[in-house]
Amino acid sequence: MRPQRLNPLFVPVTSLTGVGPKQDKLFRYLLGCDDTPRLVDLLLHLPVSIIDRRARPKIKDVQPGTVVTLEVTVDRHRPSPPGRSRAPYLVYASDETGDVVLTFFRAQRDYIEKLLPKGERRYVSGTAQLFDGSLQIVHPDRIVDEAGLAKLALIEPVYPLTEGLALGALRRAVGQALQRLPELPEWIAPEVLRRCGFPSFAEALRHLHAPNVPDDILPERPYWSRLAYDELLAGQLALALVRAQLRRPAGVRHAGDGHLRRAVIDALPYALTQSQRDAAEAIARDLTEPLRMLRLLQGDVGSGKTVVALLAAAAVAEAGGQSALMAPTEILARQHHKTIAPLAAAAGMSVAILTGREKGKERRELLARLAEGEIDLLVGTHALIQDDVVFKTLALAVVDEQHRFGVRERLALTSKGKAVDVLVLSATPIPRTLVLTYFGDMDISELREKPAGRQPIDTRAIPAGRLDEVMEAIGRALDRGARVYWICPLVEESDKIDNLIDAEQRFASLTARFGDKVGLVHGKMKGSEKDRAMAAFAAGETTLLVATTVVEVGVDVPAATIMVIENAERFGLAQLHQLRGRIGRGTEASTCLLLYREPLGEMSAARLRVIRDTTDGFRIAEEDLRLRGEGDVLGTRQSGLPGYRIARAEVHGQLIPQARDEALRILEDNPRLEGERGEALRCLLYLFERDEAIPLIGAG
Ligand code: ADP
Ligand code: MG
Repeated sequence: MRPQRLNPLFVPVTSLTGVGPKQDKLFRYLLGCDDTPRLVDLLLHLPVSIIDRRARPKIKDVQPGTVVTLEVTVDRHRPSPPGRSRAPYLVYASDETGDVVLTFFRAQRDYIEKLLPKGERRYVSGTAQLFDGSLQIVHPDRIVDEAGLAKLALIEPVYPLTEGLALGALRRAVGQALQRLPELPEWIAPEVLRRCGFPSFAEALRHLHAPNVPDDILPERPYWSRLAYDELLAGQLALALVRAQLRRPAGVRHAGDGHLRRAVIDALPYALTQSQRDAAEAIARDLTEPLRMLRLLQGDVGSGKTVVALLAAAAVAEAGGQSALMAPTEILARQHHKTIAPLAAAAGMSVAILTGREKGKERRELLARLAEGEIDLLVGTHALIQDDVVFKTLALAVVDEQHRFGVRERLALTSKGKAVDVLVLSATPIPRTLVLTYFGDMDISELREKPAGRQPIDTRAIPAGRLDEVMEAIGRALDRGARVYWICPLVEESDKIDNLIDAEQRFASLTARFGDKVGLVHGKMKGSEKDRAMAAFAAGETTLLVATTVVEVGVDVPAATIMVIENAERFGLAQLHQLRGRIGRGTEASTCLLLYREPLGEMSAARLRVIRDTTDGFRIAEEDLRLRGEGDVLGTRQSGLPGYRIARAEVHGQLIPQARDEALRILEDNPRLEGERGEALRCLLYLFERDEAIPLIGAG
């Protein structure tokens, strides 16, 4: 149950004056909420910059182009001439040093006359400009009298906005929300507060939304940092609660004598790389420890994670346990299954697959065998976490591409067994600080070497204006028997339909040119259709595969040597790297063509340069972080830790281990979150939406 004292912050924004159904929609969009946002969502929407109205020069000293607040006397009005309503309404004003013109377009005469009565003194704030040699302010932001001046915010926050939502409207809503901010108990330990010099939560919010000096809103200053720490602490505490459940009951060990592992290795048509061997050994060790395994296996696409996962499952099967391997997409699940099945068969392990496609009798029989313990390893999609999927003795959960799954799904899978060990596979190398934010404390194995015999990839960036040339080159390559991926423009997540249309149009134009060699695969296809399209491409029945980003993960067609990526400038670095990892998997050299639309922004150009210059996923991940940091400095982009709204890797990186340490200390001293501090920490979990961890409190 949510602590009562939080209630004022959890009322919908529509309870604020001036926020109706229309604003509701805009706020949802702006704040990324599926439902009507609550006041807390609004308050955690932090400013990006400020308007500084503190400059109060005399008119003769005004710097054109700056924001100023002038004390003036209103001299005369010149309304738009009759019949020329497009001409501006001008108000002439002055102080003892000079004149200024206040310019209004499409103004209501009554309104202006009331706002700026002739002969009166007013304070006018806005951006001063020179026009035709005279100083003017077009549509001053603020016009107040003496009384109004006292209340005028001289430093005003500026927020990220969305079309249709005015800055003023957002500010008024935030102002009201601040009024309702209750005093909350402190959840941060006193020594941390002192060491970091943090203000209270409420004080931080008040200063960010009503700054005293411009620097108050900078992410590296104490106000923002305090909230970043809160957010990180909430995340770490939730993860620590999950982690606390991971102690293994005494006597339960999940690794056997090695006979299945040896049989799998004997069946491999290649030798394991050293890092694959190291990873498999580390996993085997974890499986015999009294603490449950929580290990991340990171390695570039194609580095051979699947076989390491299989070896882990083999170790577990030797001890009579079952394993599950959950992948984010059907294609990827089938790919894993295809790699694993023959090796497992050779070793005498039984493997099955379960996705949304297995239905009816087939599914029932599979589930019966699973419950009997006849299946050693079940590969699948999130279909694995359905309630009626029951294992006899689930001992190991392998989760591929974890960041696509939430804590909830992870828990759902591990709750299907007792003391289940967890192995996470990630093809996106994640810097250590980020690992902490996603997973909390976790052991890490890295597959840094590429399996022997991998060929380099020649990557080039080409302006979209040269599409015809690219088409011709692709035509020649197809004639030579090449296998080509054609990745269609990525459109924002919310526009999946457009993406589809793009893919279908591109499919049509490529088919018109290259005939029935062209295949199509996209996310809206049924699973069986996708498989058929992929299988046709793998078998060489189609040689040019038009695809949306569904091929991003895992797909393995070693014969494919060319990839064209349209609108490459729209993709993030990690995604480009993932996509490109689909080629360069066979014995032949590969080519990746990045088509970009001009003009190319600075950030996009930098990303394309990185991807052109290296195929090392770890380097790409570092560059990604660095570029996102720079983007922030340039103000071109809001960057954050994925899943975190306030904390920024580049600014608050050093707070991450501190939050982790505090979370661990809390769980040691007060695992049930009891007493006043415990209640305060529960507030924290709710405020930052980590309350899904609350049912775990004290359950470990
Ligand atoms: P990942 O999941 O890391 O992207 P996979 O496990 O799908 O990579 O492996 C990619 C390909 O490399 C598969 O075809 C696999 O059989 C092969 N492979 C894995 N390990 C080795 C190795 N040590 N030597 C040669 N080929 C390997
Ligand atoms: Mg893989």
